[in-house]
Amino acid sequence: PAARVRGMGTSIFTEMTELARRTGAVNLGQGVPELDSPAALLKDVADAVLAGSNQYPPAHGFPALREAVAAHQLRRYGLDYQPQGEVLVTTGATEALAAALLALCDPGDEVIAFDPCYDAYAADARLAGARLVAVPLVLDGDGFALDADALRAAVSPRTRVLILNTPHNPTGMVFKAEELEAVADVCREHSLTVITDEVYEHLVYNDGARHLPFAALPEMRERTVVISSAGKTFNTTGWKVGWVCGPAPLVAAVGAAKQFLTYASGTPYQEALARALGSVEEWAAGLRGTLRGNRDLLSDGLTEAGLRPFRADAGYFVQADVRPWGYSDGVRFCRDLPERAGVVAIPTSAFYVSADAPAWLVRFSVCKSGDSIRQAVDQLIAAR
Ligand code: PMP
Ligand code: GLN
Repeated sequence: PAARVRGMGTSIFTEMTELARRTGAVNLGQGVPELDSPAALLKDVADAVLAGSNQYPPAHGFPALREAVAAHQLRRYGLDYQPQGEVLVTTGATEALAAALLALCDPGDEVIAFDPCYDAYAADARLAGARLVAVPLVLDGDGFALDADALRAAVSPRTRVLILNTPHNPTGMVFKAEELEAVADVCREHSLTVITDEVYEHLVYNDGARHLPFAALPEMRERTVVISSAGKTFNTTGWKVGWVCGPAPLVAAVGAAKQFLTYASGTPYQEALARALGSVEEWAAGLRGTLRGNRDLLSDGLTEAGLRPFRADAGYFVQADVRPWGYSDGVRFCRDLPERAGVVAIPTSAFYVSADAPAWLVRFSVCKSGDSIRQAVDQLIAAR
């Protein structure tokens, strides 16, 4: 195999889902929702398929979906994008991230991201011939926070792109206004291009936390490629519909790479999602309530089981310190957990690029049915 894929191995998600299947354990590993999708959305997809909406959509995406994405950005965030030229539909956020890094990095460039981070960032940087430089988020009380000095120190003359993921996978952190301003200062000083990964934008469920779009900060729209996805918002992760918003030159570059990755995909899904995105606020309010309930159930259960959960403000995941069970290594904990408690989780170290990860952190997924969470919690308490 070529050097760019050598040693990449199998993604941690595949490995852990396979472990759950083999052992019959409750799968709180991979963020695969066990939650419902809007009934009208499912019916609209079926209708679109039966009506013959089954051929290639336009390469930049179904026009009604591009219009719905632009309307969503304006309505929610006051960000104005032209549906033609400033919005691009992709095969999930995954393709958007790959296309963006291929389009924006030259070999030898450096890409900054915050550690821990979603596993695709380092892999995509490498596919582009670039290198991911990780800036650790710091543990701050019961949550995670930006270390602005560490960010500043990580910038080099080779730094080209910064990836900002908020709300954040795996930590459940939501960047605060002053943290975003500190990031924006660095981007301004060093003329960095920014890729924001906002796939959990609708899933902020903690009172007091709010999703703030980075592109809305002064001078940031012109340098920011915004990425989001329908997968998390509507519990349709298998449909793989995502999108990119940004200034026309950046979106054109991402589109140039994208057209040779998949060209286009998901016509009936795109058609149905255009409608669903128009009323996403009502839907998302219910989903946030469900996730908040699951987060509370799981966090309380982890505490009762003798583990130490961290605060999650948003998204699909809760981190826990597993040292109280006598483990200094989350990988060993996760390997033992199916047999000890009938539960699968993911060592948070799998999301760290830098070597000095807190090895004792483990990620549990809350995008599951209430029954799955309750069963996992009961078994964890019994295994304490
Ligand atoms: N970014 C983050 C932070 C994610 O958690 C995910 C979900 N796996 C993705 C991107 C990929 O999204 P999609 O399923 O739309 O490709
Ligand atoms: N985003 C999900 C997670 O973090 C799953 C991603 C995947 O399976 N590639 O668990």
